[in-house]
Amino acid sequence: MTPGSDLAATAVTALTCKLCGAPDPVPVFSEAAADAVFTSYHCRACDLFQTLGDIAAVSPDYVDLTADQLDPMHVFLQTAHKKTAFDQWSRIIRRRGNSGKRLLDIGCGVGGFLDYASANGFETYGFDASAAQAEQARIHHPNVRNFIDIDSYCTALREPVKFDVITMWDVFEHIRTPAELIAGVRRHLAPGGVFFVSVPNGAPNPMKVKLARMRGREPGLIPWEHVFYYTRNSLARVMKDNGLDVAEIGAVVPYVRPMSVHEAVRRAGFGLLSSTRYAPQLFAVTRLPA
Ligand SMILES: [Zn+2]
Repeated sequence: MTPGSDLAATAVTALTCKLCGAPDPVPVFSEAAADAVFTSYHCRACDLFQTLGDIAAVSPDYVDLTADQLDPMHVFLQTAHKKTAFDQWSRIIRRRGNSGKRLLDIGCGVGGFLDYASANGFETYGFDASAAQAEQARIHHPNVRNFIDIDSYCTALREPVKFDVITMWDVFEHIRTPAELIAGVRRHLAPGGVFFVSVPNGAPNPMKVKLARMRGREPGLIPWEHVFYYTRNSLARVMKDNGLDVAEIGAVVPYVRPMSVHEAVRRAGFGLLSSTRYAPQLFAVTRLPA
């Protein structure tokens, strides 16, 4: 190898935070997928964990899901698993006095949340990047389509709609360009409309990485899928910086699995952490400014 190519091979591009632009985010952990290694960095300025480097625009594993992969466990994870959190959402929306009933679920999957919303009197809309999932959701929710962005979806609807509530359940952390997504949400929210997201919290990540290393394991944080891990601060910031008013950031109640000793311990741990900055899952309730 010539000295020149050696230099090129070791040259490091200066990195900046994708949310606040601060220099030198700190690498936290790396995980390998297929033939590439992905590294998640933490920005000390805005407290965002983020995967930097080349990432596919939309997860190929997700888009290519086939109908036979939508097995009972896959469906459970989008339905009964999240029922307690859906009930929490319902309480939040009622408390906020939202009266409009047109609801769009971005990344609606097989329609688990749309089923819940429909049973609670909402007129349901949704789209999903996976054709197989969108097709399944459309059986009960005729407005569901297979799209990856809100503008294309809304153009395909028979008549223009402004939504009173837009939701994203475990989807926002996958979005590579949150500023573009939020701009789209703002275009299609009705005046006073609410944008709600539920995301895994990034704050426990350094602890999870340490525990995994002690056990000689990968942390399992899938940085090629969860390209952003928001914390309370960075979740509020991404919304504010992109023109939404933040009404509330809080801890999501535990998603549930069938009861067992392990599940009882998990729920108790989840409950203890929920009142701290290490809450496993966060929600944000935001509104279009008046
Ligand atoms: Zn930052």
